Amino acid sequence: MRLTFLGTAAAGGVPLWGCDCAVCTLARFDSSFMRRPNCALIEAGEVRLLLDAGVMDVTERFPPGSLSAILVTHFHADHVQGLFHLRWGKGELDVYAPQDAIGCADLYKSPGPLKFKHVSKFSAFAVGDVKITPVPLVHSKETLGYCIEHADARLAYLSDCSELPPTTEAFLAEWQPHTICLDCTFPPGTAEPRNHFDLPDALALEKSFPTSKIVLMHIGHRLDEWLLNSPAALPEGVTLARDGETLVCTGVT
Ligand SMILES: [Zn+2]
Ligand SMILES: [Zn+2]
Ligand SMILES: [Zn+2]
Repeated sequence: MRLTFLGTAAAGGVPLWGCDCAVCTLARFDSSFMRRPNCALIEAGEVRLLLDAGVMDVTERFPPGSLSAILVTHFHADHVQGLFHLRWGKGELDVYAPQDAIGCADLYKSPGPLKFKHVSKFSAFAVGDVKITPVPLVHSKETLGYCIEHADARLAYLSDCSELPPTTEAFLAEWQPHTICLDCTFPPGTAEPRNHFDLPDALALEKSFPTSKIVLMHIGHRLDEWLLNSPAALPEGVTLARDGETLVCTGVT
């Protein structure tokens, strides 16, 4: 199983419009600092799953038939804005999503080829030979993480969240993911209330899952800037995702 990050930014992206912080300034000249909105591609055997659709060029990247399904974590715009273009296309594409009665704008009213399938927490489903278990996350809108299993590899995709409910922590403790892709929007010292993990939250989770590889995503420009000045802050086993990076999940950490 492979996961490729297509977008690793918090809402607003990097560079943030109008921001002249060190990272946003760098990102305007060096695309390796750029972060697009939240989106990732899972490839496992014959199955190709899009995790969220924050990037705006989904129709160009993925012609008809190239995706098995889309998994939506929640209906904030930075996770579903790429779906709006797909609505004018033809054919059918399954979109698994949380039970959110409102959704985003008129996506439910005019779905076009998008076949929304509302899934329930801890009710596993399959796409081909990939098993997926949705887990609840604490966020400002109904939000699911997805625990994805193929062959011997187990990957948890947890965006967006400010904390894990005890039921989700218990599931993960039992399930023992090899890789955890985790929302980490803010640097240390960010005032509460927050709807996202900050770096100390993320590193505390690392202590609960010492055998898992933890990859931070949904990165805000202020965390990037903080890490630019504190390059040794991430312990072994914790990495920062980059747009275009591919993780290979083999079932071994
Ligand atoms: Zn988000
Ligand atoms: Zn900035
Ligand atoms: Zn969100």
